[in-house]
Formats: sequence, structure tokens, C-alpha cells
Amino acid sequence: MITVENLVKTFRGRGETLVALDGVSLEVPQGTVCGVVGQSGAGKSTLARCVALLEKPDSGAIRVDGTDLVSLGGAALRAARRRIGVVPQGDSLLRQRTAAGNVALPLESAGAARLQRRARVLELLDLVGLADKAGAYPDQLSGGQRQRVAIARALAGSPSVLLADEPTSALDPETTASVLGVLDRARAELGVTVLIVTHDMDVVRRICDDVAVLEKGRVVEHGKVLDLVARESRTASALLPTT
Ligand code: ATP
Ligand code: MG
Repeated sequence: MITVENLVKTFRGRGETLVALDGVSLEVPQGTVCGVVGQSGAGKSTLARCVALLEKPDSGAIRVDGTDLVSLGGAALRAARRRIGVVPQGDSLLRQRTAAGNVALPLESAGAARLQRRARVLELLDLVGLADKAGAYPDQLSGGQRQRVAIARALAGSPSVLLADEPTSALDPETTASVLGVLDRARAELGVTVLIVTHDMDVVRRICDDVAVLEKGRVVEHGKVLDLVARESRTASALLPTT
């Protein structure tokens, strides 16, 4: 479960202060998928990066499974970071490492033994449907396959939450479906709580339980996707000619 309370994040540059997150509150129940949508610059990546502990918020609270992450430091912070899987925006795989080598990275930094690492990497690649691509380099993979390797890598530390920033941008519908399938599997089979940043409402309709709409660093709407879809279709039918 992810709880974000009144999160504020500003960026200071040449005399001016930019408020990227202006008091964001959000709750994602355990084992559910929450979509974060909004225009470019709305603060979606900043929110994901704060929850991932890659960016330090000015104020507010971020709790994962009840533990407040903002106040952590040192070894506790590093341990907490390992419990959070991140699929960064854009291409994030190391080009000089194979798919297996990329997935193994977090296991190496956690100090897992070589044999254990091997077994776990194969298990993860199997989960994302890429067991046969273990030895392939990122250049030899399609965009969707690369994204699925990035998801496998994010799951390597058995995180309780997974943050995915635009995991399907620039992918065709079929490839998008395969990436969404993997995220759904992570939720269904591993019970992972997923926060997915996207600009694609179709992605929200297909995989998310809840959705939050960000606008200029504020949540302007947050609720069940089913309610949103029902409202959309009511609006659509109200616009139909009545003759
Ligand atoms: P997109 O859909 O384009 O990815 P976004 O919603 O993810 O947009 P963010 O990347 O969160 O937007 O950026 C929110 C605001 O914060 C933007 O105005 C951006 O310019 C600013 N910003 C983000 N990161 C930094 C940074 N490291 N330094 C200064 N300003 C930043
Ligand atoms: Mg972004």
C-alpha cells in the first residue's frame, strides 16, 4: 500500500521557484493498480520519483506499507529503496549488458550469491515471457521486450510496490498489451501494488483500478476507473442525437 500525504516538491533555478508538486495526496491500496494521468509538466514523473526515493520532497509524507520513507536516511533508506521497484521513463537498460545481465543488476548490488542470482533472473525473465531472450542485448530486442526486461529488473528485489513511468509510450497497441499483461501479472501473482504514469486513457481503462488526474502539481480528480468510464459513457450518450 502506498500513501502519499500533502507532498510538496519545488525546484529552484535562476531566482525562480517552480512548484512541481503542490500538496499531492494519494492512496493506492495493496495489490491494486493506480494510474496517474495529466498533461506534460503536470508533475507525474516528479511524483513517481519522490515515491521511488530518487527525489527528496520539500514536505509531506510517503508511506509504503505503513513505513514513512521521507524521514529515513542511510542504511534504512537504502533498504527501503530496494523494496520499491522502478521502471523509469524512457529507455533505461544498460546497452552493454544482456537482458539477463540487466535483470541481475539489483541482485548483484544486494549481494545475492551467483547461483541464486541465476535462478532468480531466469524466473523473472520467464514471468515477463522472455526466457528465450536471456542472452540478447537491448539493441537486439524490440521496444516492448526492452520494457518487459525493465519490469523484470524492477521486480528483482521482490518489491511490494512497483512504479512505472510511461511504460507503454511509443509502443504499438499489441506491444502495449504485452507490457500491460506483465504489469497485471505482477499484481495478480506477486500481489505488488502498482503506480503507473501514463498519458494514455486506454491504458488506464485496461489495467487500472483507480486513477488520479494531476494538473499543475495538484490532484484534481481521484477515483475508481469504473466510475470514470461510466461517467464518460453517460456523457457520450447524452451527446447522441435523440431522434
Ligand atoms: P511528462 O508527461 O512530459 O513526462 P511530467 O508530468 O512527468 O511530464 P515532471 O517531469 O514531473 O512532469 O515535471 C514537472 C515540472 O517540474 C515541470 O515543469 C518540469 O520542468 C519541472 N522539473 C522536473 N524535474 C526537474 C528538475 N530536475 N529540475 C528543475 N525542474 C524540474
Ligand atoms: Mg514524465
